[in-house]
Amino acid sequence: MLVENTYDLIGHTPLMHLPMKTPNDVNIYAKLEMFNPGGSIKDRLGMALIQRGIAEGKVTVTTTIIEPTAGNTGIGVALAALKYHLPVKLVVPAKFSYEKQTLMRALGAEVVNTPSEEGIKGAIAKAKELAAEIGDAYVPLQFQNQANPDVYQRTLGPEILADLANKPIAAFVAGAGSGGTFAGIQKSLQDAYPELKGYIVEPAGSILNGGPAHSHRTEGIGVEFIPPFFKDLDYTGVKTISDDDAFYYVRWVAKNLGLFIGSSSGAALAASLEVAKELPHGANLVTVFPDSSERYLSEHIYEE
Ligand code: PMP
Repeated sequence: MLVENTYDLIGHTPLMHLPMKTPNDVNIYAKLEMFNPGGSIKDRLGMALIQRGIAEGKVTVTTTIIEPTAGNTGIGVALAALKYHLPVKLVVPAKFSYEKQTLMRALGAEVVNTPSEEGIKGAIAKAKELAAEIGDAYVPLQFQNQANPDVYQRTLGPEILADLANKPIAAFVAGAGSGGTFAGIQKSLQDAYPELKGYIVEPAGSILNGGPAHSHRTEGIGVEFIPPFFKDLDYTGVKTISDDDAFYYVRWVAKNLGLFIGSSSGAALAASLEVAKELPHGANLVTVFPDSSERYLSEHIYEE
């Protein structure tokens, strides 16, 4: 494959039929989003946010892009902004991985840390404050921006449908941080298969199942407020996965499949195996592996 630039490498990631024993011999297909050039599913979003800002006239050649992020969206935004030579400030709660923050800086972004205990809400408030100070600034705000679910509905969902050709999909399982990934892909797959069951994955400590909010090691998923993208969305349920289960599958997948997956992917696999128990024999289940473990090595992702 000959490509002319980094941006041509965004999307069209492999869909892997996981070679493993599953409940009811369900086929689990995982979209391997770590194969995007910035290393995660959020490269698609970074480009969509910047391009929509330009199209709507909110971003000109001098505009500073400011975004609150747990990391991967920041890398995606920094990558996209580089194409248009736009300055970028990313507001990241201090707890998120050293590797992700280093990669943002490598792409020329400035990283502004907020206190870990203030969570993503603290980062959102700080991003708005910085934008007001700068004036000529744009905060795409992935947590509310319709470009977020839209890009997954437009690109990732159809890629899955094309790769599976005529195999009917019984269930879709994916984690939620901003909720854009789940909402967009769920809509796309449900258009093709109206009976599709959709399960959102959250770490213990996230609030979707009504559990108490607390910190968790699983990075990139978990919500502090109900994502607006879930309004009017038709889904079946929420699977809450412990950090221990998520990290168990991170290690299991490396040892048994030779694949490096991040903790939100480990949680997605743990939830997929639970959902498989409820499906008919030989059904097809689709899930998403958003990034690689390589950006969590400093957090000792492979150590028990
Ligand atoms: N996994 C990882 C590693 C992520 O960085 C993100 C984005 N924060 C997600 C899952 C969840 O994606 P979304 O924000 O679209 O819900």
